[in-house]
Amino acid sequence: MQFKELGLHPDILRAVQDAGYETPTPIQAQAIPHVLLGADVMGAAQTGTGKTAAFTLPILHRLMPFASSSVSPARHPVRALMLAPTRELADQIYQNVAQYAQHSPLRSAVVFGGVDMAPQTAALRAGVEVLIATPGRLLDHVQQKTLNLSQVSVLVLDEADRMLDMGFLPDLQRIVNLLPPERQSLLFSATFSPEIRKLAKTFLKDNPVTVEVARRNATAENVTQQVYLVDRPESKRGAVVRLIKRLKLQQVIVFTNTKIGASRLARELQKEGISADAIHGDKSQGERLITLERFKRGEVLVLVATDVAARGLDIAELPAVINYDVPYAAEDYVHRIGRTGRAGASGQAISVMSPVDERLMQDIEKLIGKKLVREKLPGLDMPPGADPLFFLPYEDDSSPAASSAKAAAPAQSPLLTGSAKRLVGAAVLLGGKPRLTGQ
Ligand code: AMP
Repeated sequence: MQFKELGLHPDILRAVQDAGYETPTPIQAQAIPHVLLGADVMGAAQTGTGKTAAFTLPILHRLMPFASSSVSPARHPVRALMLAPTRELADQIYQNVAQYAQHSPLRSAVVFGGVDMAPQTAALRAGVEVLIATPGRLLDHVQQKTLNLSQVSVLVLDEADRMLDMGFLPDLQRIVNLLPPERQSLLFSATFSPEIRKLAKTFLKDNPVTVEVARRNATAENVTQQVYLVDRPESKRGAVVRLIKRLKLQQVIVFTNTKIGASRLARELQKEGISADAIHGDKSQGERLITLERFKRGEVLVLVATDVAARGLDIAELPAVINYDVPYAAEDYVHRIGRTGRAGASGQAISVMSPVDERLMQDIEKLIGKKLVREKLPGLDMPPGADPLFFLPYEDDSSPAASSAKAAAPAQSPLLTGSAKRLVGAAVLLGGKPRLTGQ
């Protein structure tokens, strides 16, 4: 199928061409015709599948008859409301909407918390057809009477599962009560859990069209999943440093389960000479956006993130993600590894676990329906002061440390295990002399 065949307005098609998209992704091919017809749609798809365009393109098309070049705010009422759980996701949807609407007079704006309300208020007062918002800040604007939602004809709930996890249900209820009942509603979620089905029953018309794309991470052939077992939680930091350095990872998100853990790990990576920064909910919105931009530009190579902060980040062709902490919820594993191997690119998802993570790892294996081989990282009995890089889990001909260690390693190292191809033994420099260690 081609975009042309979908019958989208020429202004929108032009923006799609500018974006360089050749064919619609599966979620786009499935959802766009229904949204164009005005149906309520419940879509199971994650970030990375092209779902933003799947709802934005047909919504813009439906709004085109109302597009006006008048400067009067009254000619630009909010007609489409898109709700997202996090500031980053809201901002990302906004960037997409602005891009796809660039050749039309349709206006858009985004409002989210943590930043000054005044510029948002000014944008709302000037009038916008498409408003993207996080629920809390949207209600702040409603309270301040800077926003009128009485002409909204399309509602989008994006990442609805995450909105429920984050406790937004009461806010959603209040927002929906402010909208005309005669409207089109679209709900997107990573999965159709019983809670999501209940939410859909409340907010969508009966029997919405459901569209579902395979949970790409669970099935994707283009993401290599590796699990490295270390002896104890304290060994994880050294393992992550080695993985990043040995694999020469250039743009990688490292996931932690806590905000404190993210900050601490970013600091520790910096101490190891790795260009790293943390992104999590305790950072100000400004700080988070700056960090994200620097990461996208390649000025920061490692982004340490919590699940909430990373959710929905669209960073093209991320080569790898590392799970420093095994996530508590197996679903989060699927979301995390969905950050890599996007749009046909191959990706690497590496998890570092210690024996205490075994049960969580088994939950993940159950969810993805696949056994993950635990490869032991050698050289964990590292003496204090030893250079962790001298433990060489990978062959790396380009590194001088690698060649000297290889020269020192016997042909049949006791450490050559299942991953023998890559393992070349573990050596540690003691008193300047390489010495082989066993485990
Ligand atoms: P999303 O799932 O909406 O976050 O989109 C993920 C990425 O896919 C974004 O960078 C989009 O620009 C890109 N994208 C969306 N639709 C297409 C398409 N039809 N062809 C190629 N890339 C696309």
